[in-house]
Amino acid sequence: MQHHRALTGSLIAAALLLAACGSGAGDTLSASGDAAGAAGAGSLTAHDAGEGAAASDDHSAAAGAPAGGSAHADGATHTPHWAYEGEAGPEAWGSLSEDWALCAAGAEQSPIDVRNTAAAAGATVGGVLTFAYQPSAFEVVDNGHTIQVNLSAAGSVVIEGTPYQLVQFHAHAPSEHTMDSVQFPMEYHLVHKNAAGNLAVVGVIVQQGSAHQEWAKVFAQLPDEGAGAAGSGTIDPNLLLPTDRTLVRYSGSLTTPPCSESVRWHVMLNSLEWSHEQLAAFTARFPHSNRPVQPRNVRDLEVLAG
Ligand SMILES: [Zn+2]
Repeated sequence: MQHHRALTGSLIAAALLLAACGSGAGDTLSASGDAAGAAGAGSLTAHDAGEGAAASDDHSAAAGAPAGGSAHADGATHTPHWAYEGEAGPEAWGSLSEDWALCAAGAEQSPIDVRNTAAAAGATVGGVLTFAYQPSAFEVVDNGHTIQVNLSAAGSVVIEGTPYQLVQFHAHAPSEHTMDSVQFPMEYHLVHKNAAGNLAVVGVIVQQGSAHQEWAKVFAQLPDEGAGAAGSGTIDPNLLLPTDRTLVRYSGSLTTPPCSESVRWHVMLNSLEWSHEQLAAFTARFPHSNRPVQPRNVRDLEVLAG
């Protein structure tokens, strides 16, 4: 049973895991779940780390899609090194590659500070977004920036009638989105892709508490750094969502290079829990893996009863 609670600002501070930021977490490892995940083809092959395949992490699973074409369509494998700190850190992403210019120049970047109270004052719209997840085989990948779990047949979220297939999920520490400026120990992202290649991401905030049973399967089968491995059993993505699925929707971007925009973001207003041991297991490998919040600019936040 996963507990959840509303993200009222008072909690947290104490639970914040302030990880040491000494290690050079993100290096040139690549091996993202791109292919397996985005294609949803069902083959859960381990990825070859170090091959420099894709830009990597995360939502860049389909990075080429929203931007209308991968910067590496020629198959070149010289993706610049990026990191969460230092000379290749977030402040520099936009200048590391011309293909990553949006990281600096974009007006609809993610993550943002979710103004919970302001958003809650808006109209709540129901029935716009429906989750149709199912248990799926999985593959766990350490892509050099995060732990990513690729799913082969996990179902979809239907947004205004359009299905977006759930292709992978991955985590960030501490949280990327903040709630009324409060940051949390972790956040994980469920990345979905529709038939046209457009992305929709669901963000779930994590607080310290009980062990999360689905993530426990991931931690029990962690591959070596920079490697990937098929997991045994299945992951039920329904259990990756809080029971109360009220969320805030806004238009944003990938939170890693190339920072492509037109990503449909949905941040859950209720959190789930990981145990202290699970938080420590993630931050031991990736002490610091969050992009700082970006200007909201003129974007609206919309509350949906998921
Ligand atoms: Zn992410």
